[in-house]
Amino acid sequence: MEEVLVVGGGIGGLTLALMLHRRGISCRVFEAAPELKPLGVGINLLPHAMKELDAVGVQEHLAGLGVLTSEAAFFNRFGQLIYEEKLGRAAGYGWPQISIHRADLHRVLLDAFVAAAGAERYRLGWQCVGAEPDGTVRFRRAGDGAELPAQKGHCVIAADGIHSTLRKQLYPDDGEPIYSGVNMWRGVTRWQPILGGAAMIRCGWFTHAKIVIYPISPVEGDGRQKVNWVVEIKTPRYERWNWARPGRLEDFIGPMQDWHFDWLDVPEFLRQAEIALEYPMVDKDPLPRWSFGRITLLGDAAHPMYPRGSNGAGQAILDARALADCLAATADPEAALRDYEALRREATAKVVRTNRTTPPDVILGEVHKRTGDKPFASIDAVISRAELVAITDAYKRVAGYEKAQLGPAKPDG
Ligand SMILES: Cc1cc2nc3c(=O)[nH]c(=O)nc-3n(C[C@H](O)[C@H](O)[C@H](O)COP(=O)(O)OP(=O)(O)OC[C@H]3O[C@@H](n4cnc5c(N)ncnc54)[C@H](O)[C@@H]3O)c2cc1C
Repeated sequence: MEEVLVVGGGIGGLTLALMLHRRGISCRVFEAAPELKPLGVGINLLPHAMKELDAVGVQEHLAGLGVLTSEAAFFNRFGQLIYEEKLGRAAGYGWPQISIHRADLHRVLLDAFVAAAGAERYRLGWQCVGAEPDGTVRFRRAGDGAELPAQKGHCVIAADGIHSTLRKQLYPDDGEPIYSGVNMWRGVTRWQPILGGAAMIRCGWFTHAKIVIYPISPVEGDGRQKVNWVVEIKTPRYERWNWARPGRLEDFIGPMQDWHFDWLDVPEFLRQAEIALEYPMVDKDPLPRWSFGRITLLGDAAHPMYPRGSNGAGQAILDARALADCLAATADPEAALRDYEALRREATAKVVRTNRTTPPDVILGEVHKRTGDKPFASIDAVISRAELVAITDAYKRVAGYEKAQLGPAKPDG
């Protein structure tokens, strides 16, 4: 079999490469960035994604760098607790939920692939400019734009992210990502453990301000850990999606000035941030087709989604698993890509749509609406626990990580 050509060496592309290598299918990854910089901030890997990453042997390494997130906690903007639930291993899953810096996740995947397949199989500075349905890909050198030799492979996997070149080629009228009306500021603050140091906290609502907070590194010698945060505010203004755009505190701290809770002083926490980045919450409408001859789409190139249910990386990882299995099952590349699409296109479209309408965060919106944005005397008088459980369970079902869907871990875990 000719090599599989993977365009884009981010989270999805590298996971696929690792999985293909494990199945004895040779591949090469072409990454546009001329060098790897530790860009981005925190990312979450839910148990369905961790099950797949465990199977490629990186679970322990990730667990050592990140945090085994053990509970979700939802608060209103007055700091009152609405709902708590266990997550990952603490909820009885066979795999943990891991919250980690995206750069650490990327480095672990890259190191594992290079150790297994060799450094020459991951090429930096190769910017894809187009591909043919027969499996030929054209490249330019990032930086000076010099033409690089075209490559011909068994098939071409477009794992080139939200601004995918190959998606644009297949869908010339696709346009820019669609703005949700909510702008986001993300950052990292080194802080003492909040609510036990392994909680994913959601607080407020984006008509005023909503903040999501979760730690992404173990507690260090000074008693602090890296804590990721995301502020979401409804606003008509936004700039083009760019992972490196700096955010300004004065643009988003206003609505949270008086959020001095007994579990966290939010304005102080934000003021101490080491890094703050700004970008809009965007996605794209689900596509009617992903596979064209020997070309297919994977991850954000196929289905960019709002980062509301912590599923962007996870769904790319599930795509990789399905595609690796399909490529291993038949020598006919076009059939394999069609089978992969049948497994994953509608499944991911449901996640894109659910992230727009009823992600777990909708709990906050519901309480905001029912209380008229006022403090409550008792949460039970506002919403029942059964209703809250139903909201998060429904999301787990759509995203594919209900406990019953995943099954038990291997005995050696
Ligand atoms: C620099 C960066 C920082 C990020 N930070 C965060 C974060 O903090 N939190 C979060 O939740 N998500 C973050 N993401 C997005 C997250 O990685 C994805 O949503 C998710 O993991 C799906 O992975 P993916 O492989 O589809 O896309 P990505 O992980 O985005 O990978 C796409 C890769 O394709 C490369 N590429 C793009 N165009 C071309 C081309 N023409 N030729 C070759 N290669 C190309 C990109 O450089 C990138 O490495 C970040 C993405 C990037 C690129």
